[in-house]
Amino acid sequence: MITQLEFARAGKTTAEMSMVAAVEGFTGEEIRKFIADGTVVIPKNINHKNIKPIGIGEPLKTKVNANIGTSQGYPDPEREFEKLEVLLEAGADAVMDLSTGGDLSYIREKLIEKTNRPIGTVPIYESMVHYKADFQIEKFFDILTAQAKQGVDFFTIHSGVKLEHIPYINKRLMGVVSRGGAYLVSYMKRTKQENPLYVHYDKILDICRQYDVTLSLGDGLRPGCIDDATDEAQLAELKVLGTLAQRAREKGVQVMIEGPGHIPLHQIKENMELKKKYAGSTPFYVLGPLVTDIAPGYDHICGAVGATIAAFYGASFLCYVTPREHLGLPDKQDVKDGVIASRIAAHAADLALNKHGARQWDTLMSKARVEFDWEREFELSIDPKKTREKKDDCNGADKKVCSMCGDYCSMKITQEQV
Ligand code: SF4
Repeated sequence: MITQLEFARAGKTTAEMSMVAAVEGFTGEEIRKFIADGTVVIPKNINHKNIKPIGIGEPLKTKVNANIGTSQGYPDPEREFEKLEVLLEAGADAVMDLSTGGDLSYIREKLIEKTNRPIGTVPIYESMVHYKADFQIEKFFDILTAQAKQGVDFFTIHSGVKLEHIPYINKRLMGVVSRGGAYLVSYMKRTKQENPLYVHYDKILDICRQYDVTLSLGDGLRPGCIDDATDEAQLAELKVLGTLAQRAREKGVQVMIEGPGHIPLHQIKENMELKKKYAGSTPFYVLGPLVTDIAPGYDHICGAVGATIAAFYGASFLCYVTPREHLGLPDKQDVKDGVIASRIAAHAADLALNKHGARQWDTLMSKARVEFDWEREFELSIDPKKTREKKDDCNGADKKVCSMCGDYCSMKITQEQV
């Protein structure tokens, strides 16, 4: 036995399951059962030693992922290491390294070394960078194996996009917006051959199983604009992802499914239900979803609105969106704003769903507020630094109130009446 899924099925509660149970308010046995039936995953490569395991799945608290990584324009790894520090401090639960510039292996190795959170990658990016259009499956397996040996905890693999989906793509306004999806569609169009990541899926599973890398089945055909939301291309791929998820579990590989993209508010519930229809309780990892296309510069807000609804209806893992989305590679402030926005979305959904500890956090904050215990309020805040910076004492009036209402502070007046 190698993977958490195999241990769970054999009736063994691992140390990782117990650690997840302790923070999620479940027993180890309950977590084991969730893992055994595929409802929860613990992305933890057997070679990633310094990791604090997290559980991802609908019964657990909603988790947040932050993407970082070099690009051709910004190949400097130090910039990404600084962003890693920011996202960790801001409270991201997991990190994806999407590097496409500089020494990819070195960057990955350092990111794994520098964080105790699960690290994910999109291995097809390394193929694109090294081999351009000359995709060869054996070289892809080498990349996969090397990354797995380094300790990557979850892989996004776009095995669900198929030749038969191409006519649907042609009907779209925006076509394919996933980098991995676009690369594979281009390969299929050029060679007239099936997606090699679909054809050789079993071999991919073998590599994942060997290191207990959790598979995150990528949505190569996710809608990239509101016009393309919930269209034939997206749903055709989702159906395939559901069958691939089942095949992964049969091989002992933990698996999640990735979801849209750009989805208007009124379609989010339907999208969560469709995922359940085709992929059951497989954890759903959503990229946003962004509820409108018209707010570049504020897409972390568009993403957080969609993510809140998605998490309320069953998404378990939120990929952050930064204010730089659609505009460029995020900087440190973008990363921080993206993580905080997604964490607010995650918590808002957890609170509404009464997940472990969520309500208590709000109650503690309310008590601190009513007691004018500003230090406690800073401490409990989702962004203590910003809360402290924004706090503005009231000139002349009672120092415990803030500058918003001064002597007319409603809480003070209410308390003085009692
Ligand atoms: S002054 Fe107004 S905003 Fe400030 S603490 Fe009192 S009620 Fe709240």
